[in-house]
Amino acid sequence: MSPGEVDLLIIGGGVNGAGIARDAAGRGLGVLLVERDDLAAHTSSSSTKLIHGGLRYLEYYEFRLVREALAEREVLLGLAPHLIKPMRFVMPLAEDMRPAWMIRTGLFLYDHIGGRTRLPKSEGVSLDGPWGAGLAGVEKGFVYSDAWVDDARLVALNALGAAERGAIIRTHTGFAGARREGGRWIATLDDGTTVAARAIVNTAGPWVGQVLGELAGVHAERPPRLVKGSHILVRRLYEGEHAYIFQNDDKRIVFAIPYERDFTLIGTTDKPYEGDPSAPRIDPDEIDYLCRAVNRYFAKPIGPDDMVGSYSGVRPLFDDGAEDASAVTRDYVLTLGVEEGPQVLSAFGGKITTYRRLAEHALDKLKPFLPHMGPAWTADEPLPGGDLPDGDFDAFLADVRRRWPFLDALTAGRMAHAYGTRIERVLGDATAIIDLGGGLSTREVDYLVEREWARTAEDILWRRTKLGLHVDEETRRRVSDYLSNRR
Ligand SMILES: Cc1cc2nc3c(=O)[nH]c(=O)nc-3n(C[C@H](O)[C@H](O)[C@H](O)COP(=O)(O)OP(=O)(O)OC[C@H]3O[C@@H](n4cnc5c(N)ncnc54)[C@H](O)[C@@H]3O)c2cc1C
Repeated sequence: MSPGEVDLLIIGGGVNGAGIARDAAGRGLGVLLVERDDLAAHTSSSSTKLIHGGLRYLEYYEFRLVREALAEREVLLGLAPHLIKPMRFVMPLAEDMRPAWMIRTGLFLYDHIGGRTRLPKSEGVSLDGPWGAGLAGVEKGFVYSDAWVDDARLVALNALGAAERGAIIRTHTGFAGARREGGRWIATLDDGTTVAARAIVNTAGPWVGQVLGELAGVHAERPPRLVKGSHILVRRLYEGEHAYIFQNDDKRIVFAIPYERDFTLIGTTDKPYEGDPSAPRIDPDEIDYLCRAVNRYFAKPIGPDDMVGSYSGVRPLFDDGAEDASAVTRDYVLTLGVEEGPQVLSAFGGKITTYRRLAEHALDKLKPFLPHMGPAWTADEPLPGGDLPDGDFDAFLADVRRRWPFLDALTAGRMAHAYGTRIERVLGDATAIIDLGGGLSTREVDYLVEREWARTAEDILWRRTKLGLHVDEETRRRVSDYLSNRR
């Protein structure tokens, strides 16, 4: 396929753009995805990283979304058993919050409406023992199942899966505008090149409204409702692999999640946002809010000084007119932009969890305009590296340790999760590695540059891996120097 003429031009390399690119390429469409920044540089690396139905959405009667997301949780656990791991969530009962019968009813629904088969069901538990590790003043609660994913890697794997089916992925390439001519879109990119496309997909996340404005002849819909969400990171607050879901007195919930072995991730907030979506920052009132929310449960209170990091993301939600930012629907809405001629489809809202279904729905909508596309296929095809023998991660990790005995235990575990069976392509017949620091080898950096579109130390240390949390300034410099020298 020539990059000058494609079936589908996809604008935005977050989870939704990358997911649509993979699906579309596998259906035989010629695809070009352009991402102005790095893959997953924005919302798709700033999430809470849960593959979940969203227990709290039941209170907003979002049954369609919860059902689809829970069913998708099952599918994704099968497609990426290396990257997505089951997690148990403990919700302590608190006297002045929702009564036990209400939580029990919600969890009953949560256990049943999505066709759960892979994960254990919910149950009431005593918080005296391990389920209450680190907590004080709460005796009973419930435990239920969801799953956790490295969101930025999920995006990279979708882009990789797309490229392996013929899609062209161009990072650091912005879409600058398009007009319709002779039954095609003629799009201009910010490197000055043009591309003709039979249809455009606008998955620009927080910029979805802006991109609509750059498409000649297309009426901009209501702009997306931008809602910021922030997380803080503190040193690990409790033992155990389970997460907590804490009820807060404003009826919201806040998660505390074991993160990258040494940390606890606490989030999130819901704050209407009007600034530049490319650089959202946590505000002091959000830090106070998150500390207060967990301090009513943890034995050892935390404050702003305990923070070792934070990140914020902007949700590009569909504006359903809800007053409260927490109440705006998290479901996705796909709109077609023109009455006739070459089409543009825009995606509003959505979840990391539902990206694959969003992609299927997007392509269903585009089918009349691109009738030669093949049928849906992604529900049964593992993501790159996800074809673990019997889907058994522990057995796979044991194989990795036997095959590359020079890897320390942490690095072997990290790489097995990140690459799954693709670790073979990273390490191959290596008998040793040159360690740039924290177990990051020159081989791994080479692989990430050659196969996963990484360019900078930040791409590698914060998105393709999360090693940025663990390594020092010296390692960062070594990674940067290595990248400069290999150019
Ligand atoms: C705080 C927070 C917590 C969340 N937690 C969860 C969770 O636990 N589980 C879950 O399932 N979901 C969660 N979500 C939702 C999820 O993160 C988003 O729905 C999803 O990441 C949106 O992806 P996207 O691809 O639409 O947007 P993005 O990831 O923002 O991607 C859009 C991309 O388009 C690019 N772009 C924009 N304009 C142009 C242009 N002109 N040319 C080229 N490229 C362009 C941008 O650079 C960007 O990379 C959370 C969201 C937030 C903010």
